[in-house]
Amino acid sequence: MAKKKINLKTTVVENREQRLGTIIAWDGKASDLAKESAFSRQGCGGGDGNQCNLCEVRGPFTQGSVCSEQIVGCQAGNVRNSVLVQHSPIGCGAGQVEWNSLFRNGLAQRNLPVESIRILCSNLKESDMVFGGVEKLRNTVQDAWDRYKPEAIFISTSCSTAIIGDDIDGVATEFTEKLKIPVVPLHCEGFRSKHWSTGFDSTQHGILRQIVRKNPKKQEDLVNVINLWGSDIFTPMLGELGLRVNYIVDLATVEQLAQLSEAACTVGFCYTLSSYLAAGLEQEFGVPEIKAPQPYGLVGTDAWIREIGRVTNREEKAEAYIEKSHKKIEKRLNELRKELKGVKGYVATGSAYAHGIIAVLKELGVEVNGSLTFHHDPVYDSGDPKQDSLAHVIDNYGDIPSFSVSNRQQFQFYGLLKRVNPDFIIIRHNGLAPLASRLGIPAAPLGDEHIAVAYDGIINLGETILDLLAHKTFHEDLAQHVKLPYKKWWLDQEDPFILSKEPNIVSQ
Ligand code: SF4
Repeated sequence: MAKKKINLKTTVVENREQRLGTIIAWDGKASDLAKESAFSRQGCGGGDGNQCNLCEVRGPFTQGSVCSEQIVGCQAGNVRNSVLVQHSPIGCGAGQVEWNSLFRNGLAQRNLPVESIRILCSNLKESDMVFGGVEKLRNTVQDAWDRYKPEAIFISTSCSTAIIGDDIDGVATEFTEKLKIPVVPLHCEGFRSKHWSTGFDSTQHGILRQIVRKNPKKQEDLVNVINLWGSDIFTPMLGELGLRVNYIVDLATVEQLAQLSEAACTVGFCYTLSSYLAAGLEQEFGVPEIKAPQPYGLVGTDAWIREIGRVTNREEKAEAYIEKSHKKIEKRLNELRKELKGVKGYVATGSAYAHGIIAVLKELGVEVNGSLTFHHDPVYDSGDPKQDSLAHVIDNYGDIPSFSVSNRQQFQFYGLLKRVNPDFIIIRHNGLAPLASRLGIPAAPLGDEHIAVAYDGIINLGETILDLLAHKTFHEDLAQHVKLPYKKWWLDQEDPFILSKEPNIVSQ
C-alpha cells in the first residue's frame, strides 16, 4: 500500500523542511532554482521524504523574522465562533494587535459583521517554567468556554511550553470530552521550524484531524477556496461556472471548516498556503485538489479555470467564461502593455504568491530582472509538476536573472535592490517597504492579496503600477535626503550574501 503523505495519526504536523525540503536562503537565476528543485523532487530517496535537499546559503545571523506560532495566531485566531488559547508568555501574544486589525478589516471587506478576535494567552511566568503551566492552561481553556461558549477551542504551543514539556495534548483531550466541542492542540513553537509557513500547516493539520466532518454529505457545487482575508473575487468568478465558494481559513466559521470534506474540489490563491490542507482533503476525504498553474496571468488563469471546469463537469461554462474574460480585458491590457513598456519591477513576497505576481507583471510587459521570496518549497504536498509555480513562470515568460530567497533580512534587501535598481517593488510584508522608499523606489503593499488574481487582476495590477509610478519623483527626492543605517563597507558591498559565504567577516 502506498505510504500516506499527510500523517494525521499524530497531533504534531511534520515541518515543511522535512516534508518539502523548504529553504530560507538562496541566490542565483530563477531557472537554476527551478532546475535544482526538480532534482530535489525526483528525490534520491524515492519520494519517501528522504529527498536530496536543495543547497541553502546559511548566514551567521538572522536580523528578524516571524515564527510559526505567530502564523497560527492569524489563522486559528481568525476563525469565527472559536477561541484560540496561546499557551505562552505574554510576549508571544504581541501579535494579537495586528491579527485583530486584519480580522476586523477582513470582515468589513467581505460585508460580514465586524467583531474582535478571541485570543486568550495563558501568560506563563518564570515560576511556571520551573513548576509547569498545565494548571494555567486548564484555567484559560475553562475561561474561554465560560466567556464565549465557542464551537471550537484551539490551543497553540510556544517555545516555552515546548521546553518545559507541558502535556497540551492531554489537556485538549480532557476538555474535548468535558465541553463536547473540538479542543484542538496546534504544535507550532517558533524554534521547531525555520520557516513561519509551518504555522499554516500546523493550523490546517488540527482542522483536518478534529474539525472536518468525517461522514460528509457531498455538495457538488461547493468549492473550497483556501485564502487569507482578501476581497470576495472568487464568488462572482466561480459563480460563472455555477459554483459556490467556501472560504477557508481566515474569517470562516467552524461550520465552514467542518464542511471542507463535502466540497467538489479545493483551490487556493497561493500554493504556499493551500498545499497541506488541499492535499490532506484529497487524501483523507477524496476532495480533489485542482492541479494546475495558479490563477495569475492569462496562461495560468486559463489553465486553472479549465481544470476546475473538468473536475466539476462544467467544461462548456469554463470555456465560455474564458472567452468572455479575454474579450473584456483585451483593450485595456494592450494599452497597459504600451504604457508599461521598459518599466522595471521587483517582487518581494511569500514564495508561490511571488511566482504568481511575477507572471502578472510579465503579462503586462514589465521587465522583472530580480525578485525575492521569503522561502522556497522545491515541491508542494501533492508532488504534482502541474503545480510547479516557479517553472510555470520561467517556461511561459522567461528567466529572472537575480532571483533570491531571504526571510525578510533587511540588510540583504538593500543589496538586492541595488543590484537591479527597479522602478517599483511589489511587496506583501510592509516592513521592507520603507527601506525601498529610502532608496527612491516606490512600493505597492498588496494589502488585498486578491488584487492580482485572474483576468481582472491583470488590469488591477497594471493600474496599481501606474499609480505607483506617479510617486516616483517623491521617492527620488526622499532618497536625496535620508541616510541609511549601514556602514560604507556594507553600502559598497556587491554581494548581499557575502556574510553567508565568508561568515568570518562578521568578527573582523
Ligand atoms: S513561539 Fe517562540 S519564536 Fe514565536 S513569538 Fe513565542 S517565543 Fe518568539
